[in-house]
Order: sequence, then C-alpha cells, then structure tokens
Amino acid sequence: MKDYAIETKCVQCGYSPKNGEPRVLPIYQTTTYKYDTSEAMAKLFDLEPGYMYTRLANPTNDAVAAKITALEGGFAGVLTSSGQAANFFSLINILGAGDHFVSSATIYGGTFNLFNVTMRKIGIDVTFVDPNADEETISAAFRPNTKAVFGETIANPSLDVLDIEKFARIAHAHGVPLIIDNTFPTPINCRPFEFGADIVTHSTTKYMEGHASTVGGAVIDSGNFDWEQNDKFPGLTTPDESYHGAVYTRDFGKAAYITKIVAQLLRDYGSTPSPQNSFYLNLGLETLALRVERHCKNAQAVAEYLEKNDKISWVNYPGLPGNRYHALAQKYMPNGTCGVISFGVKGGRSAAEKFMNSLKLAAIVTHVADARTCVLHPASSTHRQLSDKELEECGVTPDLIRFSVGIENVNDIIADIEQALATL
Ligand code: PLP
Repeated sequence: MKDYAIETKCVQCGYSPKNGEPRVLPIYQTTTYKYDTSEAMAKLFDLEPGYMYTRLANPTNDAVAAKITALEGGFAGVLTSSGQAANFFSLINILGAGDHFVSSATIYGGTFNLFNVTMRKIGIDVTFVDPNADEETISAAFRPNTKAVFGETIANPSLDVLDIEKFARIAHAHGVPLIIDNTFPTPINCRPFEFGADIVTHSTTKYMEGHASTVGGAVIDSGNFDWEQNDKFPGLTTPDESYHGAVYTRDFGKAAYITKIVAQLLRDYGSTPSPQNSFYLNLGLETLALRVERHCKNAQAVAEYLEKNDKISWVNYPGLPGNRYHALAQKYMPNGTCGVISFGVKGGRSAAEKFMNSLKLAAIVTHVADARTCVLHPASSTHRQLSDKELEECGVTPDLIRFSVGIENVNDIIADIEQALATL
C-alpha cells in the first residue's frame, strides 16, 4: 500500500478487498484450512506460504498484524493472545537457558515479574538497569551471554520516558537487538524504529483496541537487525530440527525473526489470539489516531489542573514543561505522550484511598489506557508482589495514583476529581 499518513493507515492498512469481496475484514472463525491433495498440504509443513491451523496463523489475525506493522513502519509482525505473551516471545525467540538480557528497571509490574521470577526459573537471567544511568554504567551490565536489551518507551506506571537512541547505541555496540514495548505512546505518538529500536512489542489490550474489551499483544520486527553478525543467535542462523533443518535467516531473510515466532513459539506455546478478538482490535485501530489525540489533550488539561491544586503533592506527566522527562518526550513524542498521569495526594496512602473511593466518573479498575477514565493504586494492586526496594527501582512510590484519562469531555473528568478532592 502507498505510504499514506498514519491516520489513513489506521483505517486502510492490512486488508484490501478485491472485486466483490466483503468491504470489512472478515472474521475467519476456523481452526483449519482445506486442501485438495495431501501434497498441497505437505508443502505447508515445509514452511511454504499458506494456512494450516489457526494456532499458527489465521487470515484475520494476519491482516491486523499487517496493519500494526504498517503503523510501526516495520517489516513483519505477529499477534499474540496478550501483551505478556508478546514480551515473553520477543525474548524467548532469541534467548534460552544460560542466556542473559539487560532491561530497564522502570517497566510494567507484570513484565518485571515475568523477567525477575518466571524467566529466571527457566534459566534466563536479567540485569535491571536504571534507564537514566550513563552509557558506561549501563554497558557494565553486559556479559558475554547477553542477548538483548529491553525497555518501555513510556514506563507503566512511573511514566519515565526512555532515551531510545541511547539504549539502541548501547545494544548495538554489544551486537544485540533493542526491544521496545511501545504500548503507552502507540505508533501514533512514537515509532521506536525511527530511533534505532529493532523489535517493538505491544499490549494491544490498551489504546490499540481501546475499549477494554479484548486482551491481546503484538510483536513487530523492523527487519533491520543483522542476526548473522555474531554467533549469539543460533536459533535463527542454524538449522531448526523441528522444521526439517530450516535456517530462518537463510530461508526467510528479513522475516526470519517473525517466522520463527510463528513456526516455533505459536506452534509450541499456543498463545494465539482468537480471530474474533483480532476483529475487535481492528475496529479499535481504525479510530486509534483520533482517540490518542483526545486522550493526550485531555490528559494535558487534567495534569495542568492537578499541578495547580494545593491538595496534590506531586504530578508526573511528561507533557508538563517542568517534568523531568519533558525534553525527552519532546524529542521522541512531539505530538503528545499518552493519556496516563501519575500523582500523589497530600496525606499519603490513606488520603489516596479516600480520594479514589470518592470518584464517581473515574472507575477503580486494574486496566489502563482505554476510552473510559479509570484509576488505580499500583502499590496495593498491580505491583503488590514487589518489595519496597523493587517498587523504588520500578519508580512506584506508595502514594502513587495512576490516573488514566479517557476520551470523555475533559470538564466532566476535572469536575469528578474536584468533588473527590473536596472530601479530603
Ligand atoms: N506492557 C505494558 C506496558 C503494559 O502496561 C501491560 C499491561 O498492563 C503489558 C505489557 C501486558 O499486557 P497484557 O495485559 O495485554 O498481557
């Protein structure tokens, strides 16, 4: 498809019906695909193009993956059943027992647990680094068996903005790819490939689907990383015995990394989205540009209101000129960051709880980044497994309230905050 503007890509990419075909992306609600001969089917098991079983690939899922790939400016992409699966696959695709990776410490609590507990149990080690440390300090975390670097463009919930170019430089100097979870800004506000990232992941559950109705994830490859530059990635550069000796880099070129996720990880772990969920995701993507713009405009107004309110002890929003990350946000996301704000209420944890319980429009939910305004106290919910030290490393203070500004009229959102603050 012609290189349209991103708003057009949101609506048009991924599915182009031919003469007489359905205008809207069909839901291919099928587990399997019919072939006229066994020989025709046999070719699929040699990884020739085509569909065999929806656990590996499905035309609805593929169309939506192609749209997200176009939005990110990537080469190839695949959907997964959740953002957790996307982040896990992005790493396990190139790491195995005995390997190590470096991750920014300020990441989503669920991802932190995945890295810090579950992946260690299967023999994959991680070193968490302060993303604001200098290049030398971060480089000191690398070992001979380090295979990847991971970070979030805007960290959930600390809202730290990652210096993507710095992380890309460090990763590439060590011959490993930079993987970026771009969930919060979405490609509408930031496209990490333009700053040197190699792989992008998403929890499509958030702004992309946008209506809090389906859990999903995506992994997108820029196609730029040279997997053959060293001997760190044998899974991509040497024969895969579970596929008759296929060598992904030799046989699939720039599509090697994503083909391996489909052929090996979806086959073996089965974290495949349902075509129905992908259909909903596609509907969400059609309005992504409109919604993200409104989320950011509303969040800016709410952050400015909070900053002036004397019942608020601090406000963290990269869109505020006084914010520690304002300059980085301007560099990587000049049109806006995201709709999520974090702040503290004077009076600490108990005042925060009273404030949250008094909100009428904003709902207390685990979720973040959808059309409805919602609120959460991470230290007692999403991050409650973490020790105080780990909380500090993740940038989550005990009084932190995460406020996800929706696309309602901003005056109603501010009025709701005002009446809840009046109860303190
Ligand atoms: N990455 C980020 C930045 C998230 O905020 C989340 C969930 O909140 C995830 C990944 C995990 O995604 P999912 O809930 O879709 O598994």
